[in-house]
Amino acid sequence: MAAHRVVVVGAGFGGLAVARGLARAPGIEVLVVDRTNYHLFQPLLYQVATAGLEPADIAYPARGIARRLRTARFRSAEVLGVDWDARTLRVAHGAPIPFDSLVLATGAATATFGVPGAAEHAFGLKRLDDAVALRSHLLRQFEMADADPRLIDQGALTVVVVGGGPTGTEMAGALTELFRNVLARDFPRLDIARSRVVLVEMAPEVLNGFHPSLRASARRELVRKGVELALGRSVAEVDADGVRLDDGRELPARTVLWAAGVRAVAPETGLPLARAGRIAVDPDLAVPGHPGVWAIGDVAGAVDGDGTPLPQLAPVAIQGGTHVARQILRRRAGLAGEPFTYVDRGTMATIGRRAAVAQLPLGIRLTGTLAWLAWLGLHLVQLIGFRNRLSVLLNWAWNYLTWDRAARIIVDVEDPRPEPGIGDRARSEASGP
Ligand SMILES: Cc1cc2nc3c(=O)[nH]c(=O)nc-3n(C[C@H](O)[C@H](O)[C@H](O)COP(=O)(O)OP(=O)(O)OC[C@H]3O[C@@H](n4cnc5c(N)ncnc54)[C@H](O)[C@@H]3O)c2cc1C
Repeated sequence: MAAHRVVVVGAGFGGLAVARGLARAPGIEVLVVDRTNYHLFQPLLYQVATAGLEPADIAYPARGIARRLRTARFRSAEVLGVDWDARTLRVAHGAPIPFDSLVLATGAATATFGVPGAAEHAFGLKRLDDAVALRSHLLRQFEMADADPRLIDQGALTVVVVGGGPTGTEMAGALTELFRNVLARDFPRLDIARSRVVLVEMAPEVLNGFHPSLRASARRELVRKGVELALGRSVAEVDADGVRLDDGRELPARTVLWAAGVRAVAPETGLPLARAGRIAVDPDLAVPGHPGVWAIGDVAGAVDGDGTPLPQLAPVAIQGGTHVARQILRRRAGLAGEPFTYVDRGTMATIGRRAAVAQLPLGIRLTGTLAWLAWLGLHLVQLIGFRNRLSVLLNWAWNYLTWDRAARIIVDVEDPRPEPGIGDRARSEASGP
């Protein structure tokens, strides 16, 4: 009998959890499809953007993962849509992909909420390319200001970070450390005291969702590191010269990072959507009206017992993936589906060297060095692959002991070839929308 074919779209946290959950299941073959050829550890993207880590430290080849799971294969392709009658996926290049069961795990992208100029002028931080482009852009601003210090008045050394959630907070802290501790030594002729990191947050505090004492601790730490806070303010407009806040204030800045929100991304499915473009799902994460189809992680509109949407976090995606793998096996065994329950084991955010906040079960709250060590340990064990773990550990130890950031390299990402060449197809598959 032909094996039951489970196709998983997305090699992120959720998609890989499905593949792992089905790894030893008899009579099942799993195909993981992703537009990139790697699994990306997004929580450490900000360290690539601030030159603390190399891209390869936080990305792991998807084929290497599939190879180790007996029943899984991988294909790199951009999925464009689903043909429900034929039960196939339409892909940008190559033959349609047939499926018996389908798991949509396509994640989320930066959302700029229609703020004028944000999509054109601000950097996002969702993909590996975003982090490398941002790192190169930042370093280039310092090189340009070194050549012509008048550019500092135009915001060459100013970064506006929009959004005071974990990503914005982590970026703001890491940027001041990069500027003051590393680039200050690289650019001795530049007046680093004139560099600015401004964090704009609509709410009256950073890290909304954390306990008030942790929010206050994070705010104090950011201020101590030299981050300027614009709390209770929002960005009304972004252009090439900087941002305009809702109170009319203009901030000249050559670098704007948009960390104020994400929206779900999915191929064309025609499926009903819940809030923020997320695919509506039943309590067991099945897509209503489409037997054998599931959505998990950032793209799924799953809710908790009170009807509150589940947060777009890695553990939600991982637990959702594990749950769906089990439901696929239960259905094949003729058993009824089970509702998905997310178990919150805590949330953390780091603000920089020996500064973090952690909100754990049983009301345990950590700050400072202890929270920072917990954050380091957790991220290290969650990375895939011994080489990546070792490399991240070495880089962190090196950065900590020497106050250095080895990855402060400007990479020109433009394709130098004048004519479309043989690699064109691969490039368009890898780049996505
Ligand atoms: C900067 C940053 C920091 C974060 N920090 C934390 C943190 O500290 N803790 C935490 O818990 N969470 C954090 N998150 C959130 C966490 O990374 C996400 O919740 C998690 O990645 C969601 O997993 P997922 O499997 O749903 O999607 P993803 O991990 O985003 O994976 C989706 C995959 O689908 C692929 N894909 C998308 N569309 C298509 C298509 N059409 N065809 C083929 N492939 C496609 C993408 O290439 C991607 O590989 C952070 C996110 C970011 C961006």
